[in-house]
Amino acid sequence: MKKILKWIGIIVLLLVAVAGTLYLIYLRPFMEKMKVTEVVQYDKDLTIVLGGGGNSGILNSDSIVMVIDTKMDAAAEDLYKKVKQIAGNKPIFVVNTHVHSDHTKGNKYYQGQTILAGGNYTREQWTKQAGDAGMPTIWLKDKMDLPMGDDTATIINLQKNIHTESDVMVYLHRRKMLFGGDVILNKQAPVLMGRADPEAYLATIDMLPKLFDIQKIVPGHGQIGGIEVLDNFRQYFNDMKLAATDDSKKDELVAKYKDWNQIPILMSPGATISAFKKNNSK
Ligand SMILES: [Zn+2]
Repeated sequence: MKKILKWIGIIVLLLVAVAGTLYLIYLRPFMEKMKVTEVVQYDKDLTIVLGGGGNSGILNSDSIVMVIDTKMDAAAEDLYKKVKQIAGNKPIFVVNTHVHSDHTKGNKYYQGQTILAGGNYTREQWTKQAGDAGMPTIWLKDKMDLPMGDDTATIINLQKNIHTESDVMVYLHRRKMLFGGDVILNKQAPVLMGRADPEAYLATIDMLPKLFDIQKIVPGHGQIGGIEVLDNFRQYFNDMKLAATDDSKKDELVAKYKDWNQIPILMSPGATISAFKKNNSK
């Protein structure tokens, strides 16, 4: 009995040591990097704020100001101050691309305004992940068009489990620009937790260019880019899908993405391969 307890103790210590090392080497630097923000004045009415959680957009018009994703921590408050500066007394229309806290923690600053999120979440799911401060006031079932000055925004609920149960994107028709939330990332491995489905990512990536004429992409994380952002992300998923079935190609395929943002186990090529394998065994 004593021997077993000793071994359990050693295993627990080892696990703590491994978790601590992973935290120090990967997670903490990633979290520090995530706090950094970069403001891009895209044109006179569109400000894009990268980082500080998920990427955000502030789109101004004569009658309303749209905010796409509200960030987290200090960056969320900074974003809100910027939004208020731009909006003055105009109503604010917040779109949450999905429930995760790096995209929704700032919702609390927009109470009394319109907040839209995907309609497949239950209120309980939302509260559990995002809290109940700044609860959405519109649960979008399919899609809606909103005139925004000389542009029109189409907000679309993608209708299936992709990154989460109810991912939303915003497409600006005149700018030919897509805000992809975490269904499109630029040089970052995806987090595939809970109901996330790598096959649904691939299907969505293929569907999007048929739905919209996309020339600019604001990903959920990473720099703004063109259609190549979507192509690179499709290639990533196809490579990981191949690695999941052909072990001999795995090392080479994983190495292709060594310069992408990643955290072992949580968001990494290995984690995506595991998600495909889990799908295959269903
Ligand atoms: Zn995110």
